[in-house]
Amino acid sequence: MASTPPPFREVAPDGPVVFSGGSNADPADGAAPEVLTVRPRFEHRYWLHALLLIATLATTTFVGALHYAAFEAGFEARMPDLDVRLLARGLWYSGTLLAILGAHEMGHYFMCRYHRVDATLPYFLPAPLPLTGTVGAFIRIREMFPSKRVLFDIGIAGPIAGFVVLVPALVWGLKLSEVAVLPADFEGLSLGEPPLFQLASWLVWGPVPEGASVNLHPMGFAAWFGLIATALNLLPFGQLDGGHIAYAVLGRRSTSVSLVMVLVAIGLTFVSQSWLIVAVMMLVMLVTIGARHPRVLDEDEPLDPTRRWLAFAAAVILVLCFTPAPIEPYRLIANP
Ligand SMILES: [Zn+2]
Repeated sequence: MASTPPPFREVAPDGPVVFSGGSNADPADGAAPEVLTVRPRFEHRYWLHALLLIATLATTTFVGALHYAAFEAGFEARMPDLDVRLLARGLWYSGTLLAILGAHEMGHYFMCRYHRVDATLPYFLPAPLPLTGTVGAFIRIREMFPSKRVLFDIGIAGPIAGFVVLVPALVWGLKLSEVAVLPADFEGLSLGEPPLFQLASWLVWGPVPEGASVNLHPMGFAAWFGLIATALNLLPFGQLDGGHIAYAVLGRRSTSVSLVMVLVAIGLTFVSQSWLIVAVMMLVMLVTIGARHPRVLDEDEPLDPTRRWLAFAAAVILVLCFTPAPIEPYRLIANP
């Protein structure tokens, strides 16, 4: 994820960033900023980023301990007591997830540094949510993108860096998992299987027999969550990573793609209710920020063929990580 840059005017390409004092003027329309303040690039409140990382490590390790307990219990409905041993095993989930999210955000961040576009370090978001323990992470980009080429590089660097960590974690997580027979009265959650998950599962386990299922190790669950997060980030909407890529490739035409994407998300709520939150978030962003992606400073510089091919690769990663029904309550029809 990479968030909206505030209004600003850059005066020196390699010098400090010069911000206009709260003016909403689009730098492309030639209006002069009213108040100018100068500040150096890449100044960080390290303590805040460290604090959020530690808090997210705590919430995800706690959730990870519950995942581990559920994994040890197999498909039985018994839960062991939460103790230090279990909390330590929660690190399987939290360590994997934070590595994937961290790689994704640092991919954006290092590309920002490479192109000298001012940005913050990652903000991890701790959340007492039952399955995830976090709502993800983001960096804030504090400058306008100079060109579509730079916008593209920064947008795609996150998903690719996350993907590189995700794939080995998925294979390793599946190797640590086990195939077990589902009890007839099993009540739990059924996870949607993106094509990459199906492929990795088939490579590790081969075909799973009828009535059995993969009891997913917490490391595998973290990788699965990484797959879903990667797919969501790559959707060609607004200022998601996929939205940045779409704007770099399509320019102003990407607005229509964003609007179609909202309709697709609304349509997907009929396939799985888990899309409801995505559709609502998209509608909120549409109302508050608008459908149009902010301009880049040089709108005319075209995107080179290599980057167009990379955009195609991003679309392939989106397909590999996508599932129409990410998470559903599992209702096994018991044999009479
Ligand atoms: Zn991202």
